[in-house]
Amino acid sequence: MTTTAHDALSLVPVIGLTGGIGSGKSTAAAVFRSLGVPVVDADAISRALTGPGAEGSLAVARRFGDDFLDENRAMNRARMRELVFSNPAARRELEALLHPLIGRDVLRAFASLSPDTPYAVFDCPLLLENKTWRGFVSRILVIDLAKEASIERVVRRSGLAPETVRSILRSQLPRRARLDAADDVVYNGSTPEALADRIKLLHKIYGGK
Ligand code: ADP
Repeated sequence: MTTTAHDALSLVPVIGLTGGIGSGKSTAAAVFRSLGVPVVDADAISRALTGPGAEGSLAVARRFGDDFLDENRAMNRARMRELVFSNPAARRELEALLHPLIGRDVLRAFASLSPDTPYAVFDCPLLLENKTWRGFVSRILVIDLAKEASIERVVRRSGLAPETVRSILRSQLPRRARLDAADDVVYNGSTPEALADRIKLLHKIYGGK
């Protein structure tokens, strides 16, 4: 029997956690984890599926050729990024290969939660850009930060060039649209401690223990 979003959601409410790059999603997810909340991480699932010899990597090799695998038979992310950046059709094909696998594993993770879990978090950077991911959640929490502050933090975290971060931000939903879609918003322009306090407050509102 296949598990649908509805089956999974009827067990445990799922809060979708999202925000632009550098807004502080991972930092917020870590606070939820520290409070004992199960966090399903879309990026981690995607990375596992495209790791050495994994199902997604093999699907990529079948469709795009072995050149898109590295020496460990993991998807060669840099090569794939280069291809899909300049080729929207290839991007759609890649998504058509990987999204069903990611969706399946996300739903499995939700379905494996104990039914007495008060709520779970789905950490998903592109939650609002993708209808399927959005359908998995019962509420949307946006971590919000102004563009310049996001760029500054990502540059500090990763050493990426500011222009690269700007182009990633441009490929994501605009800040305004994200705020419009949110049920809850945490502005992360202050300290990490202030962010943690706001998450702890939401944890209580969400019914956490
Ligand atoms: P995202 O997952 O949304 O891309 P992160 O949680 O990784 O963002 O945060 C981006 C960077 O900013 C990280 O290095 C993180 O440690 C740092 N950071 C997060 N929140 C704050 C804050 N309130 N003040 C200063 N730095 C922060």
